[in-house]
Amino acid sequence: MRTPFIAANWKMNGTRSEVAELLAGFKAGINTEGRQVAIFAPFVFLPAVQEALQGSDIAWGAQNAHKEASGAYTGEVSLGMLKEFGCQYVLAGHSERRTLFGETDYIVADKVAAALAAGVTPVLCIGETLQEREQGITGEVCRRQLGTVLDVVGVEGFRKLVVAYEPVWAIGTGKTATPEQAQETHAELRAFLAETDADMAAGLQILYGGSMKAANAAELMAQSDIDGGLVGGASLKVDEFTGICNAAAR
Ligand code: PEP
Repeated sequence: MRTPFIAANWKMNGTRSEVAELLAGFKAGINTEGRQVAIFAPFVFLPAVQEALQGSDIAWGAQNAHKEASGAYTGEVSLGMLKEFGCQYVLAGHSERRTLFGETDYIVADKVAAALAAGVTPVLCIGETLQEREQGITGEVCRRQLGTVLDVVGVEGFRKLVVAYEPVWAIGTGKTATPEQAQETHAELRAFLAETDADMAAGLQILYGGSMKAANAAELMAQSDIDGGLVGGASLKVDEFTGICNAAAR
């Protein structure tokens, strides 16, 4: 009942010509039938992404946004601006934003609320550090990250967003969570949300992120609570990202 969703997070990578090549390759190679695919591009490339992808079944979005609509926020970009460039999605709370740019659970929750209010679908990123996993508090950390957002946007908000579970120790490290490890956490998170609303939890797309590649994507996405992937490094290679998308079970 949940459509597979595969998303590319290009982070702060790419040149104009590399972006054009990636987009042409994705358009030619990705089979979007029965799958949702979205590209999260750096802000400056959004006009090029819009030009290349409009009219296709591949959606796009930004990797961050400010919660306010306009004002004296030097260096920031609003959700209204993103909508002008056709963004349907925005990432919220990526671990790099949390650890490198000081985004707390509360800041992330406000961004999710602002995105929902603007009609842009947030992809809410959560996940534990290696230290937290070793301390045995993975579930506690993820529940806190989800719970803070749930308190702000409620069940109705959660019906309109996507969650990406990304163990921080697996992001950009080449260390992927095993399908069993990822499935265990996804199932635990869905069960946690089901305590508030079973129907919302059953319909929520929960993506896995952390060193996903074409070679391990099918096995990860075959798990019953893994509904797709948020892909960093491998989304900068046409064959890899195309392979991941086309491996998503329909
Ligand atoms: C990410 O940035 O969300 C991510 C999962 O990165 P990578 O695939 O490179 O681990």
